[in-house]
Amino acid sequence: MTVNPLIAARRYEQGRRVLVTGGAGFLGSHLCERLLTRGDEVLCVDNFYTGARQNIEHLLAHPRFEMIRHDVCMPLYVEVDEIYNLACPASPIHYQYDPVQTTKTSVHGAINMLGLAKRTGAKILQASTSEVYGDPIQHPQTESYWGNVNPIGIRSCYDEGKRCAETLFFDYHRQHGLKIKVARIFNTYGPRMHPKDGRVVSNFVVQALAGHDLTVYGDGSQTRSFCFVSDLVDGLIRLMDSEDALVGPVNLGNPTECTVGDLARSILRLTQSNAVLTYRSIPADDPIRRCPDISLAKTLLDWHPQVSLEAGLQATIDYFRRTAVVGV
Ligand code: NAD
Ligand code: UDP
Ligand code: UDP
Repeated sequence: MTVNPLIAARRYEQGRRVLVTGGAGFLGSHLCERLLTRGDEVLCVDNFYTGARQNIEHLLAHPRFEMIRHDVCMPLYVEVDEIYNLACPASPIHYQYDPVQTTKTSVHGAINMLGLAKRTGAKILQASTSEVYGDPIQHPQTESYWGNVNPIGIRSCYDEGKRCAETLFFDYHRQHGLKIKVARIFNTYGPRMHPKDGRVVSNFVVQALAGHDLTVYGDGSQTRSFCFVSDLVDGLIRLMDSEDALVGPVNLGNPTECTVGDLARSILRLTQSNAVLTYRSIPADDPIRRCPDISLAKTLLDWHPQVSLEAGLQATIDYFRRTAVVGV
């Protein structure tokens, strides 16, 4: 790996130069904000496939923020010290809309960002997912579990794309000595989720505020564990800042498990909505149970979520009320 010594010497003198791919998305925009707050230069790359200009509008005038509209499936030549690779649609309805593009984004995107990290010597973090565990047989899920994934189903473009990206990260690490970090992110929610994102928290909040019935898929007994966005961003930054030997994968998520039915009832209570639950058929391969074992993150990163589901939901409800984006 060749690193320009002049560039290396400049490193950290004026704060880190950090690339965030998918930076105009839900998680990416919060991450960009936090990195700017601590003094980094932030280069946000996004093709606006599911992200939105509004998410980063308030950052555009910041002297240390820069935005490039770019598809990570194409090569990218920039000089940076760290890369957070978040570019990829994350909601089932969006990643299933153009499944071939979803796999390309995960795989070609990872190759290009790893190539960039190899050329510049940058440290690179992959936003992987609990979906690598598929419909898990082990519960809660530890990082050593290899998963139960359907390779040919409607979720496979996302699950297998992310699994292949993890493989690429570990092979670039072993073969080329890259400094890598792999975070397996579990369901995360909060302000700036797109109102038509299709994920369960935003769907239910938007529906409840509009007085529409809450669409529960299946009988609502399937579980998820919901992490508030500020906690998750904190975990990502701690992982990036950890010693080089810690490459992961590391689970990041809130270990408080909750059924989808209970989530719907909590949102009705917090919004004081008179809406009711309406039941729809459950999508294929929808995981029945999901809950992270976060022992590794607790021990190695001294990280665990601080925000309760109740407080996080309230903040999310306040956000959707303020932005008045109701009507899905
Ligand atoms: P999001 O859809 O809000 O953000 C993804 C961003 O990536 C969007 O801004 C989108 O426009 C951009 N993007 C998509 N394809 C691109 C491409 N080819 N080139 C450039 N930009 C592209 O989703 P999110 O919830 O913010 O998720 C961010 C990352 O975290 C994703 O990689 C996702 O897989 C991962 N993740 C999120 C969750 C969660 O619950 N939010 C859980 C597990 C993993
Ligand atoms: N790449 C990039 N930016 C860079 C360096 C590489 O986008 O600064 C891309 C390039 O398109 C290449 C990919 O990353 O195809 C993988 O790079 P690598 O050096 O691993 O492979 P090679 O160039 O030998 O195919
Ligand atoms: N879900 C639901 N109603 C909705 C959207 C989602 O009941 O309007 C369910 C979905 O079937 C799944 C859970 O909520 O069991 C979480 O779905 P989401 O799309 O948020 O994330 P993922 O399935 O990727 O965990």
